[in-house]
Amino acid sequence: QSALTIDNLQKIYPNGFQALKGISLSVQPGDFYALLGPNGAGKSTTIGILCSLVRKSAGSVKVFGIDIDENFSGAKQLLGVVPQEFNFNQFEKVQDIVINQAGFYGLPARLARERAEKYLRQLGLWDKRDEPSRNLSGGMKRRLMIARALIHEPRLLILDEPTAGVDIELRRSMWEFLEGINAQGTTIILTTHYLEEAESLCRNVAIIDKGEIVQQTSIKALLKQL
Ligand code: ADP
Ligand code: ADP
Repeated sequence: QSALTIDNLQKIYPNGFQALKGISLSVQPGDFYALLGPNGAGKSTTIGILCSLVRKSAGSVKVFGIDIDENFSGAKQLLGVVPQEFNFNQFEKVQDIVINQAGFYGLPARLARERAEKYLRQLGLWDKRDEPSRNLSGGMKRRLMIARALIHEPRLLILDEPTAGVDIELRRSMWEFLEGINAQGTTIILTTHYLEEAESLCRNVAIIDKGEIVQQTSIKALLKQL
C-alpha cells in the first residue's frame, strides 16, 4: 500500500487559471520523495490541496489507502503538513503553539507536553519555548512549523520548501533532522526548486512543470541524465 496516491488531480483557480492539469503519482512507505520544479509549477497548489487549504477541482488523494474526501479526519491522523506560509498566532508562546496542536488529534496533555519538548529540543528551539513566536527568526519559525507538524507523529510528513530562505549552515542541520525522522520510518515528501536539496536528501523524485508531471524517477537516474 502506498503512503500517498494522487490520481488525476486538477486545480482550476476562480480566475480560470488551471494550475494542475491532472497529476498522478504514488509514493511508497519509507520513501524520501521530492516534488521538484520551477516557480509556478504547481507545487504549493498540490500541498495546499493535501492540507485542505486549497480545494481541488477534480481527482483523488489517498493517504495510506484512506481517501481524504471519504475520511478526512482519518487521513489527517496519518499526515503532517508544513506549508510555506507561517500561520501561527504571533503572540502565542512557542511551546504552546506545539502543545495546542495536539488538541486536533485528541492526544493526552501529558504526551503532548513530552513530545513538544522532544521536538523543540531536537530542532534547537527549547531555549525559546517561552517566547512569543513573533520573536523568532525566519529559520526558527520554519523549524517551529516542523515541530508542530510532528506532534501526532504522522506516518507521512509533507513539507513545502522547508529550507526556503534558510542559510546553508542551518539548512544542513534541518536536512540531518529530516533524515533522522525518515530513518525512523516516517515517509517524507518535500517540494523544492533546489536540485541540490533533492540530491542530498531524496531517493525518488517527480518533476512538475506547468501543472503537469513531466518525469518520475530515482534521483540517481535523474542525475545521470544531466
Ligand atoms: P481571495 O482569497 O479573495 O481569493 P487572493 O489574494 O487569494 O484573495 O486572490 C485575489 C485574486 O488574485 C484572485 O483572483 C486570485 O485568483 C488571484 N491570485 C491569487 N494568488 C495568485 C497567484 N499566485 N497567481 C495568480 N493569481 C493569483
Ligand atoms: P509553485 O509552488 O510550484 O511555485 P504554485 O502552486 O504556487 O506553484 O502556483 C502554480 C500556478 O498557479 C502559478 O502560475 C500561480 O501563479 C498560480 N496560482 C497560485 N495561486 C493562485 C490563485 N489563488 N489564483 C490564481 N492562480 C494562482
